[in-house]
Amino acid sequence: MKRIVSGIKPTGELTLGNYLGAMKRWAEMENENIESFYFIANLHAITVRQDPFQLRKRTFDIVAWLITCGVNPEKSLIFIQSMIPAHTEICWVLTNYVTIGELGKMTQFKDKVSKSSREGQVAGLFEYPVLMAGDVLLYDADEVPVGDDQMQHLELTRNIAARFNNLYGQTFKEPKGTVSKITARIMSLKNPESKMSKSETEDSYIALEDKPEDIIKKFKRAVTDSENQIRFDSESKPAISNLLNIYSAFSEKSIDEIVSDYKNEGYGKFKTDLGELVASKLDILQKRFKEIREDEEFLLKTIKRGNSGASEIADKKVSEVYEKIGLVYHRF
Ligand code: ATP
Ligand code: MG
Repeated sequence: MKRIVSGIKPTGELTLGNYLGAMKRWAEMENENIESFYFIANLHAITVRQDPFQLRKRTFDIVAWLITCGVNPEKSLIFIQSMIPAHTEICWVLTNYVTIGELGKMTQFKDKVSKSSREGQVAGLFEYPVLMAGDVLLYDADEVPVGDDQMQHLELTRNIAARFNNLYGQTFKEPKGTVSKITARIMSLKNPESKMSKSETEDSYIALEDKPEDIIKKFKRAVTDSENQIRFDSESKPAISNLLNIYSAFSEKSIDEIVSDYKNEGYGKFKTDLGELVASKLDILQKRFKEIREDEEFLLKTIKRGNSGASEIADKKVSEVYEKIGLVYHRF
């Protein structure tokens, strides 16, 4: 059985991109003979200053949303990164098996730095690929589903693993990165060249908790391409192609079917229908979410189960690593 590990940062409202590209997909994968570990990446969230109340609230929101989207906590482990000390422990160790040069080459870091000054950045932003390497290596993951922006970090993870294995004997599995399918990549409603992201401006994404009227409004205002014809062409018509992808995902109709349904229609009608479709589907999910979110006992039980499953594996890995490098390890 293949093991995959993946995380979501509680940095903002969950979006349609998170739902279609990750959470919905994760629920489907439970039928594919895959062992899955999903964590709320709250240690990653703090590389950007967060409001403490919101950070804590969103951490629990995401647990509830995962279950709402169909992830079964009896099949997959759902856990909270900060509650498993092994993540921070392994991170510090691995920090000493990576060079400043290697981290400085990470394009995500370079992009951030080029926008403002290097000196003013928090060191966590520079180091977070090491935390990420630890997240994955702790669990001997076979695969990590990542966006192409994360591929370089995964390569670094493999390099760190290989380096450690070379020095101390086989310790870490070198994980493979799998880039999610093109159809699962949802783009921003304001700029179809960049992906929909919860840390961008509000009108560029649909939040899973948006009100129906806001969803409809946002789709109406979504940018479109120049000609007023609905067809799929992600090169020359990225905006409409993105909307077609979303339509298809929510209607379970193929893109061809939708294109033929709207053969004689303009963008206006298409966008209104899409907004209504998504609003009605999200309304169902929102009701389910509310019930789950309010059942505190169930949520805590879920987290406890996930945390204990994860820490059992992660603690073993940390103790093996400590042993190998000569650090004293003991859990009282
Ligand atoms: P941030 O802007 O803070 O990075 P994000 O929206 O990119 O937020 P993450 O927490 O980084 O969200 O990612 C959570 C999961 O959602 C990952 O598996 C990621 O690949 C997936 N994901 C995020 N945005 C999209 C998108 N637009 N399309 C498809 N999948 C996405
Ligand atoms: Mg992201």
